[in-house]
Amino acid sequence: MTTRYIIILPDKRLRLASEPVKAIDKELRRLVDDMFDTMYEAPGIGLAAIQVAVPKRVVTVDIAKKDEPKQPQVFINPVVSWASEETATYEEGCLSIPDYYEEVTRPVAVKVKFMDLSGKTQEIEATGLLATCLQHEIDHTNGVLFIDHISKLKRDLVTKKFKKAAKRADGDKTRVEPSTRDL
Ligand SMILES: [Zn+2]
Repeated sequence: MTTRYIIILPDKRLRLASEPVKAIDKELRRLVDDMFDTMYEAPGIGLAAIQVAVPKRVVTVDIAKKDEPKQPQVFINPVVSWASEETATYEEGCLSIPDYYEEVTRPVAVKVKFMDLSGKTQEIEATGLLATCLQHEIDHTNGVLFIDHISKLKRDLVTKKFKKAAKRADGDKTRVEPSTRDL
């Protein structure tokens, strides 16, 4: 099992538009395996490759409940090909914005076109939790975060909070440098 480091806000790479996958090779299969390991370990129900700092259009999802068998799903180069006019509001979170949750309104149903691991083009219609999850993850492949769908006031507040936390973490790093204080 190999888990990768999940980058968090305000890491600028989260704002990158990821590149389309051109070939399903060994490296891509390893990325997908690592993404599942990382997602299950977190734990999360969806992960985009950019969250482990790989700017490729790859998304892993598993919305199975805890007492249900695993349902790993991979979406390569996913795009929303249709979205319902009807919307639904869910409280969302993000592994790259830990411990922050906010209600987001999105289309309640979407069709998503993608490539599977055998290179075949597929299209699925998703509703409810899966629809929200796929829209959230596809947003990641375009450098969009769920906080872009909330009010500017709330977005500014959470961004500020994470910038401060990142600064503190930097400070901690210098503090744990070997020092005569540790003799
Ligand atoms: Zn996310």
